Amino acid sequence: ATMPPLLSAIANAGRHGVLVKSAVVMERLGQVERVALDKTGTLTEGAPRVVRVDPAAGRDADEVLALAAGAEHLSEHPLARAIVAAAHGKGLAIPAAEDFRATPGHGVSATVDGRKVAVTSPRGAEAAAELEDAGHTAVIVTVDDAVVGTLGIADRLRPDAAGAVAALRDLTSAEPVLLTGDNERTAAQVAGEVGISDVRAGLLPADKVAAVRESAQPTMVIGDGVNDAPALAAAHCGVAMGRAGSDLTLQTADVVVVRDELAAVPKVVDLSRRARRLVQ
Ligand code: ADP
Ligand code: MG
Repeated sequence: ATMPPLLSAIANAGRHGVLVKSAVVMERLGQVERVALDKTGTLTEGAPRVVRVDPAAGRDADEVLALAAGAEHLSEHPLARAIVAAAHGKGLAIPAAEDFRATPGHGVSATVDGRKVAVTSPRGAEAAAELEDAGHTAVIVTVDDAVVGTLGIADRLRPDAAGAVAALRDLTSAEPVLLTGDNERTAAQVAGEVGISDVRAGLLPADKVAAVRESAQPTMVIGDGVNDAPALAAAHCGVAMGRAGSDLTLQTADVVVVRDELAAVPKVVDLSRRARRLVQ
């Protein structure tokens, strides 16, 4: 017997390194009229590096980095991995932490040597403005709620990001939207580089869901992080980037880009449209 078109499309998607979880999902891909993309780990590679450590007055840069790594080492966020890698790279001993807590879209906290260490989004804090103007993501390190330093973290754009955004724009009727928890300055810089004009920055996970629901058009969400899981679930079609993807997003998503190439997403939309023409 010949395979039904939607099933051969799933097999074809697999050849492009994309896991489509069901025939229903394969069909939905072709119905998408609007695309919302996350920034960190989706448009960017999700392998950021710490490029600056700015200790507060009277603090030591290595101490700030080691404390931050202590608080972050249980987080699977790309920024957390960058901070732990930077501490390892400097040969710093990463202190043991207890009571680890992660707040999606915001940051982490933990108890290190009896003190509460937090690494969080600056959300407009003065200390971060200079780093953000340079296009970096800034995070603030606090000990018992006092700021001890600021870290500047930079991530590279995926080489296929601009091409994938252009191809997705051609396949849909609405302009692509960038949804990010990161700050406005960094978001605007990345959006400019990939040609997205609709940018929503400083979003918490629930804000991403609201942005998906504000349009009646069937919306595809492409994301990678724990913070994207609710938006992926709310989408007509939720797509997770495989390599940067957290366990939760890989489970929640309808589609997983296993080979981690953003450019495969418009190809799979196109496969769906072709299959649906054969079905009808
Ligand atoms: P995006 O939507 O671009 O993937 P997130 O929503 O994951 O970004 O994160 C938004 C912001 O929250 C980050 O830019 C950072 O300031 C802060 N943040 C989130 N998780 C962490 C973490 N583990 N450590 C430090 N900061 C974090
Ligand atoms: Mg992300």
